[in-house]
Amino acid sequence: MGYVAWVLNLSAAQQRLESLATVASSRANNTFHEAAGVLKTVAASNLAPCTPESIDEMRLLTINTFSVKSIGYVEEDIYACSSWGAVGHRVTPWKEDFITSDGVRVSLGVQARIVPAKPMMALQYAAFNVLIDPEQFLQVMVEDDVHLLVGTAAGHLVGASRPGAERFMSRVHFGSDSALEDGYLYTLVHSGDWVAIAAVSRQELLQGLIRREMLLLPIGGLLAGMLVLLIIRRARKRLSPLAELELAVRNREFIVHYQPIVDMSDGACVGAEALVRWRRPDGSLVPPDSFIPLAEQSGLILPITDQVIDNVMQELGPLLVKDRSLHVAINLAAADVSSGRFLPWLEATRRQADVWPSQIWLEVTERGFLKIDAARSTINRARELGYLAAIDDFGTGFSSLQHVQKLPLDVLKIDKSFVDAIDPCSEAGSVTEHIIEMAKSLRLRLVAEGVETEAQLDYLRGHGVQFGQGWLFARPMPASKFLGFVQEHAVVVAPVDHALECS
Ligand code: C2E
Ligand code: CA
Ligand code: CA
Repeated sequence: MGYVAWVLNLSAAQQRLESLATVASSRANNTFHEAAGVLKTVAASNLAPCTPESIDEMRLLTINTFSVKSIGYVEEDIYACSSWGAVGHRVTPWKEDFITSDGVRVSLGVQARIVPAKPMMALQYAAFNVLIDPEQFLQVMVEDDVHLLVGTAAGHLVGASRPGAERFMSRVHFGSDSALEDGYLYTLVHSGDWVAIAAVSRQELLQGLIRREMLLLPIGGLLAGMLVLLIIRRARKRLSPLAELELAVRNREFIVHYQPIVDMSDGACVGAEALVRWRRPDGSLVPPDSFIPLAEQSGLILPITDQVIDNVMQELGPLLVKDRSLHVAINLAAADVSSGRFLPWLEATRRQADVWPSQIWLEVTERGFLKIDAARSTINRARELGYLAAIDDFGTGFSSLQHVQKLPLDVLKIDKSFVDAIDPCSEAGSVTEHIIEMAKSLRLRLVAEGVETEAQLDYLRGHGVQFGQGWLFARPMPASKFLGFVQEHAVVVAPVDHALECS
């Protein structure tokens, strides 16, 4: 509001100064033209100069012209006569300050005998002259706080409303016609050969500002209050989580990070698991655990899976084509597997990217409710097309054994909880060991999830688990980084064969 008040104040002051200067400059121009007209009338008269008839004519013109104090005739430096009678004394020629475009010679500050009290302005044309009271040029009502001055376009001062205003005349020689400089706000207006300058000091402007601010403060308070109310209403109207998720699906806000999967026997990177993230418009990344359950409940998981497939093919397609030994694992929700809806879309995008189906592993999670018959039919169709099927989070569901028995599988992913439970020093066979043995007997490929320590790596390798995934090797990363990772880490972990040291 303070700023608004200052801007308003400045623009109001500028308008006031401009209209003052406009009136003053056009009045100066009119006064001058009136006097110059008189001068030219007498110069063009048929009467012989200084005859009684000519003096009568000059007197009549003086009386009828408000700004003209006298008309005179000078011949060979002799002031022969004036509108007030014959004179006949010698005069020193007046110094000409400038000549107007129509040939009128102008002298400022002339000391004339007829009005000895104050300097006059003299206009001369041929042998005739007129005297003008310079005050006539400033016949404008001026408020106390304003400096008003009138001068010639060349920078000669003719008159000022207040003493000490001469210094403003130099503005004529500067660039802009309006400026806030040196503690003053100026406005300069030209009219013909004349210019008027109006100025007001910054201090006086500030006083005006305080008055205006007093007026605007309550309005400012009111506006601020309304803004706060608006923000509160907006905040209350925030979208529900489901509506937000719907919007995110519509705006395709899902991106994919890739976590490398390595061959633990030689440390080579053999592929990646695609892990979805929700990138909000503000740039923040929401982890899948925060929105997948709602997406599964609401059915929004189906379009999200499609977006993941699109991203994977677009980002990893060229790499998978270049290196046919690499694969990418895509997570499917129970709804995807039961409905099989994703499969035609996956087929189409995969073909377009020229990726082989054997390069794609479909991860079917044990978590959530899986309709076993529908799942089996989808997995069968997918495997017939050449895709590989993996059971994810194995051992965490209610019917793990049933799943491995009834579902046609290629890969088993050992859940992180079993990897965490590895105790290299335990003599007794652990659950992890049983899972590994069972997978081997079913001829399933094994991937251990969440490998974080060297000890876990050693144990898993020692038990013949071929593939591993975990922070020990790499965290999930954007596609651009993963491409670099594959190049740099053709071998991630050097194969070591050392015995576990147990205390
Ligand atoms: P998941 O399929 O079991 O994926 C592995 C999760 O473990 C990932 O979490 C990964 O970042 C994390 N992880 C990997 N290595 C380590 C490790 O060494 N230590 C620890 N503490 N964590 C590790 P993320 O990315 O948060 O994904 C969580 C879950 O969200 C996934 O578990 C999966 O069930 C689900 N998810 C992720 N992406 C998708 C998707 O595209 N579709 C569906 N339906 N679900 C997805
Ligand atoms: Ca997974
Ligand atoms: Ca898992």
